[in-house]
Amino acid sequence: MSKTSIKHISEDYNLSEKELLKKIESFGIEMVDNKHLEGENLQLFIEMLNEEIREEKGNVIEVDNKITVQDLAESMGKSASEVIMKLMKMGTMATINQEISFDIASLVCAEFGFTLMRNDSSEVEELEIEALMDIEEDDEKDLVPRPPVVTVMGHVDHGKTSLLDAIRDTDVISGEAGGITQHIGASEVKINGQKIVFLDTPGHEAFTSMRARGAQVTDIAILVVAADDGIMPQTVEAINHAKAANVPIIIAINKIDKQGANPDKVKQELSEHGLLVEDWGGDVISVEVSAKKRINIEGLLEMVLLVAEVEELKANPNKRAVGTVIEAELDKGRGPVATVLVQGGTLRVGDPIVAGVASGKVRAMINYKGKRVKQAGPSTAVEILGLSEVPFGGDQFVEVPNDKTARLIAEKRQALQREEMLKASSKISLDALFAQMSEGKVKDLNIVIKADVQGSVQAVKQSLEKLSNDEVQIKVIHGGVGAITESDVLLASASNAIIIGFNVRPVSGSEQVAEKESVDIRTYTIIYKAIEDIKAAMSGMLDPEYVDEDTGKVEIRETYKISGVGTVAGCYVLSGKIMRSCKVRIVRDGIIIHEGELAALKRFKDDVKEVAQGFECGLSFVNYNDIKVGDIVEAYIVKAVERTIE
Ligand code: GDP
Repeated sequence: MSKTSIKHISEDYNLSEKELLKKIESFGIEMVDNKHLEGENLQLFIEMLNEEIREEKGNVIEVDNKITVQDLAESMGKSASEVIMKLMKMGTMATINQEISFDIASLVCAEFGFTLMRNDSSEVEELEIEALMDIEEDDEKDLVPRPPVVTVMGHVDHGKTSLLDAIRDTDVISGEAGGITQHIGASEVKINGQKIVFLDTPGHEAFTSMRARGAQVTDIAILVVAADDGIMPQTVEAINHAKAANVPIIIAINKIDKQGANPDKVKQELSEHGLLVEDWGGDVISVEVSAKKRINIEGLLEMVLLVAEVEELKANPNKRAVGTVIEAELDKGRGPVATVLVQGGTLRVGDPIVAGVASGKVRAMINYKGKRVKQAGPSTAVEILGLSEVPFGGDQFVEVPNDKTARLIAEKRQALQREEMLKASSKISLDALFAQMSEGKVKDLNIVIKADVQGSVQAVKQSLEKLSNDEVQIKVIHGGVGAITESDVLLASASNAIIIGFNVRPVSGSEQVAEKESVDIRTYTIIYKAIEDIKAAMSGMLDPEYVDEDTGKVEIRETYKISGVGTVAGCYVLSGKIMRSCKVRIVRDGIIIHEGELAALKRFKDDVKEVAQGFECGLSFVNYNDIKVGDIVEAYIVKAVERTIE
């Protein structure tokens, strides 16, 4: 906010200037020349004033995330048409049922003398935190052992899928499964009466994309290496991903049935990548298997259990359920379907949950065998129905106390997501350049130039590119002769560029595309004018420069030593004025001997905000006492100035 006069504010708030000055004083806000407020002080004052008015008048309207014209009108006791009229005056066209943004709604409310407040955003935040906090709150005594969750990784064609198939088959052999198993993105096997959960999306991409979303679902990684092929690039990647995630690795040397299989070579290569297997004196477990011939699959699974035992995997089944979405899709008949891994607590049919931006009540749960289940404890993967929308793989899900909380959290997240998307898709425009630059979002200004003759294209290109500086790079990504076509617009859209036209216009149709794609098209007949416009827009994107602005000169006429305070100067203001907030330079015989801050500014015994020319004052300086009679104190303030391009 820039400088605003007290008169102006008093008119805006329907208060007399006297009342306003009183408030300014009582809030302890500093004014500029007794008539204006500026910058942070202005903002602070307006905030405090609004707060006070809110408290006094009680004209506060609380709204949820969704505000429609009708709701707003009703809560102010106005008619919808009154509200619509006000909106129109502000340049916003809205119908009675239309949703309007909080910012616009607050402006309308202010017009009618009301203050708009979000009622549940902080509440939602609290609820969200409360809901999420439970995850951390495990007490050692509540923890019970849980089965391990395993991911299979390795180079393409080394047998990840075959191994998973072979593992699932062990379960079939154990006689547990019947008929066709339904794929739910995870499967479970039982070996020696103990359960192991396998995530069915093999590969480290899935593993890493989950991690990128903050989810850690894997307890153990099985690294498949084909015995006839050895360590390959994706094997190395998988090793690094598992290491980065601090997940223990079990090596499955696969395809040992094949001729040319050389497990020793694999082990040697592994050692070169920091994985020393047990026969080589290390502690990495390796198992030789054949996924195809089903050799030693149970041996591999036993090793998984062994590692799991060492890891002491535990969870608390008796709390609100929490876990991760493994995969999700929209099923034609069943709606959003998500496979989730329960990691803590127990999920039950009927529980209200939030998963990313989706919320809902668990309507049904289906286990890896395609059977309906009523509950799922830690380390159980289940498919759930009943969500409002399709969450993303890697999203966390949390059981929340009730439906309303679930809905509120999801709505809030959706709003945040929409905001993010809007931000991401908002294209550059000359008008917005200023703001986007100052937020540091844009450091390149891409331009497409179209002109009537080649000479103009070149001339404009050169003059514009010359405007580039350290902070803003101007890039002409395309220049050509002729009207502005749809393909120019699409190019600009794809590269977030603006279009500048000289003596040319957009061809019919391209304007509509530009509007749809939010591409800024500017047409000129004078080159100079275009350059002026770009310069102006760019000035706002440059970081402000700081300059010292002298406010006054003060002469030191006496000095006193005061114990506990230091040396205090009795002074006389020669010119201008000195303010408490000023910085100072102390000058002796034309040389600056000190630069620093004021520790105190006094008139007689009182602290004051400023002292003007012709008056006496007392000064002391922060961490500086070496002052003498005759020294000149130059008072100055540091100002941020918007830079322009020369
Ligand atoms: P992925 O890309 O890692 O999932 O590998 P696949 O499981 O699709 O296997 C790639 C190829 O290797 C397939 O043709 C499999 O039949 C074959 N294969 C997998 N495991 C074995 C094995 O233990 N022995 C032999 N001989 N071939 C195997």
